[in-house]
Formats: sequence, C-alpha cells, structure tokens
Amino acid sequence: MNRFRQFMYGRYGLDTLSQYLVYLALILTLVGTITRFNILINLSYIPLVFSLYRMLSKNISKRTQENNKFMAVKSAYQHKFHQFKDKINGSKTYRYFNCPSCKQKIRIPKGKGKICITCPKCRTEFIKRT
Ligand SMILES: [Zn+2]
Repeated sequence: MNRFRQFMYGRYGLDTLSQYLVYLALILTLVGTITRFNILINLSYIPLVFSLYRMLSKNISKRTQENNKFMAVKSAYQHKFHQFKDKINGSKTYRYFNCPSCKQKIRIPKGKGKICITCPKCRTEFIKRT
C-alpha cells in the first residue's frame, strides 16, 4: 500500500471525467458482449486507456481543466434533462407559453380560462387560454 501511495504521489488520480470514462468502457464492453459486436469491446479500450492516462498523469492543471470542462457540459445536460422532466411531470397541471417579445418560458396553471399573462422578465402582457 505504501509503494502504491508513493507511485501515485504527484499524480492526478481519479476524478469525475475518469470515472465516467470507465463507465463508458464498461457499457461498451457489456453491449458488445450481449450483441456480440466485438468492435464495441475493442472500442471500449479507448476510454479505459484514456482514463488510466489521466489518472497517472502528472500534469494536474491540464487534467483539472479537462474535468472542469466536462463538469460544465455535464451540468448543462443535467439542467436540460431536469427541465424536460419538470415539463412532462407538470404537463397535466400546467401549460407552458413563450413570451412574444423576449421568448421567456412562462408556466401557467391549467383550467383558468382566457387570462392576461404578464411576462415576469420584460412585463409584456399577452392573452392566452389555459
Ligand atoms: Zn418577456
């Protein structure tokens, strides 16, 4: 254990991007095994080797930059996914409109009839049926 610790000293180690690369390799291997597409199993070595390279790398600032970029992309997709999930969950009780002037998305409860909606962002008023 001490030798391993010594070996890893000054190296980048595991981060979220490397973790996801390992998951990707595992998924590729699994799908390749189930579907018998051997090319997927061979392709799974790419993220695995890249992940190992990142973990053993001594260029910590570069690896941190890569991980930060990955985290930014990941959180953007997570945000979009949550918005989509909220829209599906709320589609029975809410209607969604876009403001005609600033395109801001506005959520209005259903079943209120024809109402005047005021955009919370630009204060434009427009009439819609909910
Ligand atoms: Zn607006």
